[in-house]
Amino acid sequence: MSSREEKTANLKKGLMDFGNYNIPTICAECGGIMIFKGVGEYKCEDCGHLDYDDYGRARNYIEKHPGATTAQVSEATGVTQKSIRDMLKEERLEIAPNSNAFLTCEICGRQIRSGRYCSKCENAYHRDIEERARAARNINLSGFGTERPIGEEGSKRFTRER
Ligand SMILES: [Zn+2]
Ligand SMILES: [Zn+2]
Repeated sequence: MSSREEKTANLKKGLMDFGNYNIPTICAECGGIMIFKGVGEYKCEDCGHLDYDDYGRARNYIEKHPGATTAQVSEATGVTQKSIRDMLKEERLEIAPNSNAFLTCEICGRQIRSGRYCSKCENAYHRDIEERARAARNINLSGFGTERPIGEEGSKRFTRER
């Protein structure tokens, strides 16, 4: 696959991802183009009519109804429970602290409000990455210590000659 084809494929994939959130493109009031304003909100460039994608709808509803469950948000907004769960996992949405928890940590099973892991497991996960990075760096320091950064020295010499 050429890099150009790859780019097109990625773009298509990106657009498909957007499609999951039911982005309003045409104004329901006047047929104008809906312009993205941020956090799931869109405004008609002709008449100023506001509309929302799935993320905006779910987010607005949760703001007004803290404590709502995915089922309630879905019923009120028409956004599928799967989309809501996906947004929670991507941490685009967060359910209020007093709501019934319905996500669980994928490692320990504890109830969480957003994301994929509880803070304890997430920290452990990052500590693990840090340890690996440290180990990899130590190998580099001892194993490849004789190698010099050629580019740096070369450029220094170059400036001195001038
Ligand atoms: Zn309009
Ligand atoms: Zn956990």
